[in-house]
Amino acid sequence: GLVRANTWRRYRLGVMGGTFDPIHHGHLVAASEVAARFDLDEVVFVPTGVPWQKAGRRVSKGEDRYLMTVVATASNPRFTVSRVDIDRKGNTYTVDTLKDIRRERGGNLDLYFITGADALASILTWRGASELFDLAHFVGVTRPGVNLGQRDFSHLPSDKVTFLEVPALAISSTECRNRVAEGLPLWYLVPDGVVQYVAKRGLYDANDGDVLVLD
Ligand code: ATP
Ligand code: MG
Repeated sequence: GLVRANTWRRYRLGVMGGTFDPIHHGHLVAASEVAARFDLDEVVFVPTGVPWQKAGRRVSKGEDRYLMTVVATASNPRFTVSRVDIDRKGNTYTVDTLKDIRRERGGNLDLYFITGADALASILTWRGASELFDLAHFVGVTRPGVNLGQRDFSHLPSDKVTFLEVPALAISSTECRNRVAEGLPLWYLVPDGVVQYVAKRGLYDANDGDVLVLD
């Protein structure tokens, strides 16, 4: 008899890692665009634990970044949030993120790790780089103002990596934090609930004490 395609089709899960301090519409547009182009069933947002690439910077507590990500993604039935990175002790490495997500979700799963195209260029410097391409397909999204012209991607396996241009949104978390510190509005750069969460918790105020200073 007939077998319905979706009874044997592998589940296509996008994994969007980030500091999300705060999550903004650039992240959400990128995830939505990759989901559409790659026919993903779901995108799980994974706020980092200790982002070792951001040494020397102030980073909000994991719990605040997690809750902002939950608020920002709540209205999309295909967006979810995972605590694997904020619940794991120590630095966050993508190889651990992908293994934990696989462990959580079980088999019959294809992972699509979504990251900025700039970050993909340095992928071979990541811990466990040799394992990464066995764990997931990598999607590098281009963002405005980041010129990839000078980067060399020839060392990346072409069947495991795709670059995708997403609608230009020149928003960054850094810009959002600076705006709050300067008393400028966040409205329409981040979801409404995130504007309200930032205000309620006093995040990014000049004298904000609720941060971890990475060394
Ligand atoms: P920061 O300014 O603190 O570095 P960020 O805006 O780059 O923050 P991250 O949490 O570091 O945000 O980003 C997570 C991922 O989302 C990264 O892979 C990053 O390249 C990507 N990203 C961030 N902003 C955008 C954007 N406007 N459009 C597309 N991708 C983005
Ligand atoms: Mg960044």
